[in-house]
Amino acid sequence: MAFTLPPLPYDRDALAPHISAETLDYHHGRHHRAYVDRANALAEEAGLGSHSLLGVIRAAPPGPLCQIAGQVWNHSFFWQCLSPDERPPTDQLAMLIEQGFGSHAGLIEAFSAVATAHFGSGWAWLVLDGSALRITALHDGDTPALHEGMVPLFTLDLWEHAYYVDRRDARRDYIAAVMAHLVNWTFVAMNLDSEGLSRGDQG
Ligand code: MN
Repeated sequence: MAFTLPPLPYDRDALAPHISAETLDYHHGRHHRAYVDRANALAEEAGLGSHSLLGVIRAAPPGPLCQIAGQVWNHSFFWQCLSPDERPPTDQLAMLIEQGFGSHAGLIEAFSAVATAHFGSGWAWLVLDGSALRITALHDGDTPALHEGMVPLFTLDLWEHAYYVDRRDARRDYIAAVMAHLVNWTFVAMNLDSEGLSRGDQG
């Protein structure tokens, strides 16, 4: 079964002014779609056309198919990590944030520092490692599905295509705007059930 482009879980102008409709047109409508189309072609060539998306990521040898299928999963998860609702973390998530980072502001500061320091293309991640929150970054199309101790809770796309339309080279401003206004903490809290990988999967 061929993979498909999942629809955005909000209107294309819902994240403005922090992320514009034009950015989403390119990022979701062109970049993510291209990853889906390429993953389908390469999975078929590799004889993995009947696998789930996570199945392809895990069965493919290191190389283009693994990276591109990883990009399909990463983006499918990423769109769900964003929301215009601005509901703060509560309950268990708020407790874990306080334990790990002292406060909500402390988490945002630590996450933004890792994201800002990441060199080149990739993704910043908030993960559950055992019973604690951890912040890390992965390069290119690498994905938590390939790493032990990385239960994905939240991710931020650090590729230039994520911000260049709106902000040119000001990646720091993009990171600050998303972390202050667009994190879907309800989705992050849902992923404390360790089922986050399934929420970007398909097929
Ligand atoms: Mn992207």
